[in-house]
Amino acid sequence: MPAQCSSCTEKRAVLKRPKTGHSLCKECFFWAFEEEVHQTIVAAELFKSGESVGIAASGGKDSTVLAHVMKLLNERYNYGLELMLISVDEGITGYRDDSLETVKRNQQQYELPLKIVSYEELYGWTMDAIVKQVGLKNNCTFCGVFRRQALDRGAVMLKVDKICTGHNADDVAETVLMNVLRGDIARLRRCTAISTSSEGEGVVPRCKPLKYAYEKEIVLYAYFKKLDYFSTECIYSPNAYRGYARTFLKDLESIRPSTIIDIIHSGENLSVREGVKMPVQGTCSRCGYISSQALCKSCVLLEGLNRGLPKLGIGKHHRLHDKILSQQPLTDKEERKLKPVDF
Ligand code: SF4
Ligand code: ZN
Repeated sequence: MPAQCSSCTEKRAVLKRPKTGHSLCKECFFWAFEEEVHQTIVAAELFKSGESVGIAASGGKDSTVLAHVMKLLNERYNYGLELMLISVDEGITGYRDDSLETVKRNQQQYELPLKIVSYEELYGWTMDAIVKQVGLKNNCTFCGVFRRQALDRGAVMLKVDKICTGHNADDVAETVLMNVLRGDIARLRRCTAISTSSEGEGVVPRCKPLKYAYEKEIVLYAYFKKLDYFSTECIYSPNAYRGYARTFLKDLESIRPSTIIDIIHSGENLSVREGVKMPVQGTCSRCGYISSQALCKSCVLLEGLNRGLPKLGIGKHHRLHDKILSQQPLTDKEERKLKPVDF
């Protein structure tokens, strides 16, 4: 006999919640999922009435669910927020062009304004062109650094007070793991934060309303709500290291579902020993964006691309950044070090 919903005890259960193991009907699952996001927003005081909020929209399941739930909760609980969508067009043929079509449909469905910022217009480079030069090994480094800044630029153009992103619990746990594996203490301390305040001019505060939502539940929510989202992987995606961390996490989750939340809690409770050196934030002397070095990562990567020295921003070449900034010529040996590309 089919199980009854353990919440309403009237309808037939259609799913077992990955987070709690409860058997629920569709409506009770929707309600539980939405209420948990609402509780997250309220508990962390993510928004203030009257604010305008840009939802980072990629057309994927997380940001589509985020846009849907933000619109719904804004109306259900009178948050008083002005919502809009911000998308980044990385210039990836066969991937982003298609997913942006999904975002455009979402814009119609949710009746929200949409701003698209593209790498080509901001940096003069598409990811297609970058991959042609750098190959498929470090491409995601370029993409990630450019995206962070592109979102801020879009947010500044739209004059929003805040950006919210679709990072879910699995993403946060994965990032905690990655930062432990890399020994990146500064990021480890920041990555579990549910919201970040502006760190300087042109940096818009960000928050993650889905921080405690499991990826599996986001997929179920999108599926049962029949949301229109794009599920193809990026064609340049094999970022092997992150991929291993993700597989490891999923393996652990299959034995112990609470692993995800446990890792997040561990990350939240870690404190950094006094005396550990942290990077000091300043501003990039070229573009004015926040940076702990004379040039921000984006400007270094861009300089490398424009000079045909794509390895400039990969690894540790800080001494060379200073040389470039003061427009001193590089020696042949230094140029050679930056040129080789591993395809
Ligand atoms: Fe960019 Fe890499 Fe993500 Fe593709 S997988 S969108 S290249 S960061
Ligand atoms: Zn810069």
